[in-house]
Amino acid sequence: MNSIIGKINKIIHFSVVDGPGSRLVIFLQGCNYNCINCHNPHTINHCNSCQECVVTCPPSALQTIDEQQPPKYSTDICIGCDTCISLCPINSDPRISEISVTEMLTEISKYASFIEGITVSGGEATLQFKFVKSLFEAIKQDTHLSHLSCFIDTNGSLQVDKWRQLIDVTDGVMVDLKAWDQQVHLKLTGKSNHKVKETIKYLAKHNKLYEVRLLEIPTVTDYLLRIDEMASWLHQHASGVKIRINGFRHHGVTGKALALPQATKQDTNSLKLSLQQHQFEDICISGAFI
Ligand code: SF4
Ligand code: SF4
Repeated sequence: MNSIIGKINKIIHFSVVDGPGSRLVIFLQGCNYNCINCHNPHTINHCNSCQECVVTCPPSALQTIDEQQPPKYSTDICIGCDTCISLCPINSDPRISEISVTEMLTEISKYASFIEGITVSGGEATLQFKFVKSLFEAIKQDTHLSHLSCFIDTNGSLQVDKWRQLIDVTDGVMVDLKAWDQQVHLKLTGKSNHKVKETIKYLAKHNKLYEVRLLEIPTVTDYLLRIDEMASWLHQHASGVKIRINGFRHHGVTGKALALPQATKQDTNSLKLSLQQHQFEDICISGAFI
């Protein structure tokens, strides 16, 4: 019995956009960035048990059992209206499950014949480092699950000595490089991108960098302005890397993010063309921008 607990926001049992092939994706609660463009702001913070969402839940799927603890959530009563997350004053979500590594293995086993791997995402999955490491180790040791690849979708902020501890049990990592310049990244996320660049270098060196994701927000992100410098750095430290361009859209965002300009097909295509002119070959554009 492995009782290390993960705080889980959501599990998607089949996804084809979170790494190679068909994957089960585990979204972990909690993030150390505060991106102004965040599409899932309710995954940023852990519930502080204020109980404010309890009275606003239309079908009473949330109950106060102990005022010092997050509300009790009844999935069978919930109608999925999202009132709780839209009103939560601290960008949290009362619908979090605490799931042990052993329980997660049981859940993954139900789908293991139909998927090629699992991906941990977030929030920022690596903030729950012990859970992720322990889960990946357990999958690799389980004869019925060891065929599954273990991927991480990350903002890249984990320090290199922690990546070192994950490297043997991780098969691939998708890293967000949300802006090239430190100051632009800081303004966008609240954090510098120094560790992100170190993460990309380290993972590429160990052949675990599956993809670098660029977020195109016209007039905000700076890839085209700094394309020569960025391209040269990527060729030096992450040669042959696959690049995914995510064009920013308003779908799912709230507050200040709605004031940011949306990326058009032309914006994402211009970035792709410029990357091609800088000798990048493996480039894709996400979703609506294809
Ligand atoms: S989810 Fe938000 S509103 Fe609900 S109890 Fe937790 S912190 Fe309060
Ligand atoms: S989404 Fe939140 S507010 Fe809506 S029914 Fe479910 S728990 Fe209640």
